[in-house]
Amino acid sequence: MTTASSNKETFEYQAEMKQLLHLIIHSLYTHPEVFLRELISNASDASNKVRYLQMKNDTIIDRNKELKIKIESDEKEHRFSIEDSGIGMSRDDLINNIGTIASSGTLEFLKDAKKAKNDVGEMIGQFGVGFYSAFMVTDEIVVETRHADKDSVGLRWTSSGDGSYSIEEVKREERGTKISFKLKDEFKEYSTDFKIKDTIKKYSNFADFPIHVGKEKVNTIEPLWIKKAKDLKAEELKEFYKFVANDWEDPLDHLHLSLEGVGATFKALLFIPKRAPFELMRTQDHKTVQLYSNRIMIMEDCKDLLPEYLQFIRGVVDTADLSLNVSREMVQSSPVMQKIKTTLTNKILQWLDKMATKNTEKYAEFYKTFGKLFKYGVNSDFANKDKIVDLLRFETSQQKEGVLSSFKTYVSRMKEDQKEIYYLSGESRGQVESNPNMEYFKKHEIEVLYLIDPVDAFIIPSIPEYDKKPIKAVDKGDLDLKEDEKKGEKKDNELSKALIDLFKETLKDKTEDVRTSKRLVDSAVTLVASADGADKHTEHLMKMMGQDAPQSKRILEVNADHPVIRNLSKRYIANDKDPMLNKCILGLFESAQLIDDELVSKNDYVKRMMEIMEEATQ
Ligand code: ADP
Repeated sequence: MTTASSNKETFEYQAEMKQLLHLIIHSLYTHPEVFLRELISNASDASNKVRYLQMKNDTIIDRNKELKIKIESDEKEHRFSIEDSGIGMSRDDLINNIGTIASSGTLEFLKDAKKAKNDVGEMIGQFGVGFYSAFMVTDEIVVETRHADKDSVGLRWTSSGDGSYSIEEVKREERGTKISFKLKDEFKEYSTDFKIKDTIKKYSNFADFPIHVGKEKVNTIEPLWIKKAKDLKAEELKEFYKFVANDWEDPLDHLHLSLEGVGATFKALLFIPKRAPFELMRTQDHKTVQLYSNRIMIMEDCKDLLPEYLQFIRGVVDTADLSLNVSREMVQSSPVMQKIKTTLTNKILQWLDKMATKNTEKYAEFYKTFGKLFKYGVNSDFANKDKIVDLLRFETSQQKEGVLSSFKTYVSRMKEDQKEIYYLSGESRGQVESNPNMEYFKKHEIEVLYLIDPVDAFIIPSIPEYDKKPIKAVDKGDLDLKEDEKKGEKKDNELSKALIDLFKETLKDKTEDVRTSKRLVDSAVTLVASADGADKHTEHLMKMMGQDAPQSKRILEVNADHPVIRNLSKRYIANDKDPMLNKCILGLFESAQLIDDELVSKNDYVKRMMEIMEEATQ
């Protein structure tokens, strides 16, 4: 607060806010029409809030005033105004809602989006800064408002968006908000009815309240979800989606539901967005579905209608089973809501399943965008776990990069004598492909699922088997590697037990065990996790996330066929006290650690390698 004259107070914007305004104004020039969409959307939200208070029988002023949005313009003076009879704003509302950036980090996020050459103009509504888009088309905004509260006063907020705003008390009888300004020269067409109507048709046709331009009502207030599925037109579905989701892109897919006799009667029009909304990437605080009761919105964002892992769904759910004047708390705990949630979850999983079989490309697109969130369902929705597991997709060693397989298709390709399902988790396809533990599987062409999304490592422990086949990491110690087992036993004899014992003795504080390997082909040694530990990648991830997972000791597997091991064998027979044996065993062990990113001391390792090289080059 800087100055105060009579009842007018002037406030400075925070520095962040100034930058934000600058950024918005300079990003929007390609989409000046966005301001109209955002102001209508705010007017519509404000009207919804009042309607809700009316239903709850709260004491408010102008109780029976019609809820509508009125746009007026003056072509000669280039003036524009939009007025609603919604909830209005108190002094605190003005300061907190249009004097401050709603959520911290918004500025950074917008900057990044702009740097990445995203169309910031189109996205503006998703950032909760839509109001300011009006500064694109005008140099000064005047907001006159009065809150629905019976003790409220009329207020006028004025700002030229350059660093400060002022608030003063004014005489205003009616509830609601009027926003008015003079358009900049280059945007004067927004003072013509033609341009205004045209823009409303394009962006705001589905607003819940009548929009009047001059004397004419211009929007169709037609709840699409009431229509029969066969009467829904592709174009109007797209438009409707853009309106409810505040998205600028078409949806990936939609689902229309009209259900009776499932313990709840409801209609729903649901969408999967094409792109993850920015809120979803930034926080958990993203919007989901709107809840209506007999065509009247009772909650703008009803997270309780969907389990967390399906909260990428947008759209509308309308039920006749909730009375209009229930409180939000009661909505949340009502058995009707539980029923709807269960039914919706089932229907959405069926929808995804159908997409996965009928349109694999579309499903792959969905999976790429929302898979990370969706997969958590495996751990959280026990009732539907099997269905979700069937919807999981992975790259595999036998399929090209980018091609996704389900457990089901993997199993259908399993070799006759293969009893287990194999996977390897890691950071990337390249990394898992070159892992020594893959050698046996490559040689025998046994398919391995590549779990290269970090989330995979968290869900796989909850899926011990599929189709009665145990699911195992190829870097675990207890694999059923039939074919080479006999060979392995034979090698065990060949590779003197005494040498293995020397390995064990040398590494006794560092490993859980040392064994002859059945899975190595080209590498000399590898480290595997013990049968009861988590797989190695999972352990690394847990550690990265700061979880207290003690690193379990590894099992060192030795490839008896490898020239280095054979040489060591010979040296051991010649002289079992040869100091080189000890150095090589430690060096081999450390090189296996190095590959797994588990090497404790680079210095020790390099020193050891130098000693070995020195001897070799003598
Ligand atoms: P968003 O609408 O995404 O929150 P905005 O910058 O468009 O972001 O608006 C900020 C806030 O200002 C709104 O959330 C609302 O609280 C308030 N607001 C804006 N316009 C109105 C209006 N016409 N009536 C009441 N409140 C409003």
